[in-house]
Amino acid sequence: MTSSSNPGHNPQSRYADFHRRSIGDPEGFWRDEARRIHWETPFDTVLDRSRPPFARWFTGGRTNLCHNAVDRHLAERPQQNALVYVSTETGIERRYTYADLHAEVNRMAAVMRSLGVKRGDRVLIYLPMIPEAVFAVLACARLGAIHSVVFGGFAAPNLAARIDDAKPVLVVTADAGARAGKVIDYTPLVDEALARSKHQPARVLLIDRNLAPERLSAPYLVAYEPLREQFFDAHVPCEWLESNEPSYVLYTSGTTGRPKGVQRDVGGYAVALAASMAYIYEGRAGDTMFTASDIGWVVGHSYIIYAPLIAGLTTVMYEGTPVRPDGGIWWRLVEQHRINLMFTAPTAIRVLKKQDPALMRAADLSSLRTLFLAGEPLDEPTAEWVGSALGKPVVDNYWQTETGWPMLAIQRGIEALPPKLGSPGVPVYGYDLTLRNELTGEPCAPGEKGVITLAYPLPPGCMQTVWGDDERFVKTYWSSVPGVQVYSTFDWGVQDEDGYVTILGRTDDVINVAGHRLGTREIEEALSGHAAVAEVAVVGVTDAIKGQVARAFVVLREADRYADPASRAKLEQELTATVDRQLGAIARPARVHVVSLLPKTRSGKLLRRAIAALAEGRDPGDLPTIEDPSALQQVRAALEE
Ligand code: AMP
Repeated sequence: MTSSSNPGHNPQSRYADFHRRSIGDPEGFWRDEARRIHWETPFDTVLDRSRPPFARWFTGGRTNLCHNAVDRHLAERPQQNALVYVSTETGIERRYTYADLHAEVNRMAAVMRSLGVKRGDRVLIYLPMIPEAVFAVLACARLGAIHSVVFGGFAAPNLAARIDDAKPVLVVTADAGARAGKVIDYTPLVDEALARSKHQPARVLLIDRNLAPERLSAPYLVAYEPLREQFFDAHVPCEWLESNEPSYVLYTSGTTGRPKGVQRDVGGYAVALAASMAYIYEGRAGDTMFTASDIGWVVGHSYIIYAPLIAGLTTVMYEGTPVRPDGGIWWRLVEQHRINLMFTAPTAIRVLKKQDPALMRAADLSSLRTLFLAGEPLDEPTAEWVGSALGKPVVDNYWQTETGWPMLAIQRGIEALPPKLGSPGVPVYGYDLTLRNELTGEPCAPGEKGVITLAYPLPPGCMQTVWGDDERFVKTYWSSVPGVQVYSTFDWGVQDEDGYVTILGRTDDVINVAGHRLGTREIEEALSGHAAVAEVAVVGVTDAIKGQVARAFVVLREADRYADPASRAKLEQELTATVDRQLGAIARPARVHVVSLLPKTRSGKLLRRAIAALAEGRDPGDLPTIEDPSALQQVRAALEE
């Protein structure tokens, strides 16, 4: 295992040395990395391991994420752009230098403070892609308040569940979002969410974009603009937080309908992001980074907002789609803003691949150094196409909401190991990653399929716990592999002799649509709420553009009522609308099929994998435990309808 064709495991490789030190001596390794950020008070201990599987990084140290992202740059780069905002939906483009960003964040922080927001309070941010979303996130960080950003595409019941779990004192929202030329009213959704939630925030702060009439009946509504004027020259000092105080809660889908609040710290997150900018993204102060994601997802938190700003870059924030006004828009942004680093999900590249290649060639892409892709499997044809069309390195990186930054990648800032198509690369420093047999818990041999697990302690920046529920953190993440207490990613993978890992899909009932994680159980619960539905199974099915889409198979209470095609079609529409209302259009199944029986085991467990295989035209294999094999025939027939 020492040949030069074996770079991942080659003990002589710079990468291997680096990774080995990070695992063998995490205290020494992360003490060095901690120098990348400002500590108002130095930490006493690098790592507190007193209560596994909980890890506390840099205990006793005091710092602030907003100070590191904004204030710290005022001396050296006050006139450099910190945030460039482009909306192809409204035609608005704005630039904020670090000095401007500092002023705006202070205004927002002063407004929040005037509304009673204090250290430790939660602020729920339900905003479209507008600069005020960045100001609001950073203002919370400044005040030591805990932000919880909820993706704008989520529906009212979803929002209500998050309000009840996070119990925010303030909700920040806007009149509307815009996507693909359509205005999406936000206030009726917020109104409905507040009518459903038990918890009531003290105030709702409204950012008016003048896109839609505001329809919020809440008596506690306040408009942002007049308050911003009132606090125009405000200066709000940063709260120096202990490294392990929570910075934010970001909800993610799991196998149950109840979303999990992924809680992150302050100091560990800042250090992890700063290090990742050096070793994975190779972003240097003064560079420009365009991360095409949404602030509602973890990629948006880490690589639209915090990491580029902590490292002194210019971050480009984009509202719109990759194909409006035409498929050349992103490439023109690269040219206009001299973008050096670009980061998106494979779905966007699959969409762009269908566009006229002349649109890409027409733009001057000489500033671009690297394209990063994450969030879902990068298929080989897409990787090959974009790599050769751009003539730049394409770096796949694998991670999840829980980790906050990559677990697998080619870490070009350490050593540019050769990429292998189909693999996001080798374990990232800090992650003690092992593939394990799901039945025995034993480590897998090279080439053997297993669950991707991480040993204790998780490195800095990873989730601290489930918000308000330590027990759920231990039970969900640290208790699923037999015989060992390790963190499960719930992803299948296979590692080759060289250490490269390929991801083979989820071990649980979670699907990945266009880079977004959805629990099939959540969609099933939404559909079961419809009076016509007796039983339902939702599975993920391969899709050429989105990677996966959801398909639902329902058993009806009174099938006869929907026997004719017109009423069947109407029902299908009603069912998809139910999902839209409960979860948002993002979770809408691509098709709803009606069957009179679902394939189940004799103990009543749904055979979702068999259904998915049939929907993808594959053989479901041997199913010795199936209760009634004719159910498979039913699914086949429904698919042919
Ligand atoms: P989320 O927490 O919503 O970002 O979803 C994380 C999940 O997306 C992971 O657990 C994987 O299943 C999948 N995923 C993320 N990045 C990649 C990647 N580069 N290749 C394959 N799957 C990925």
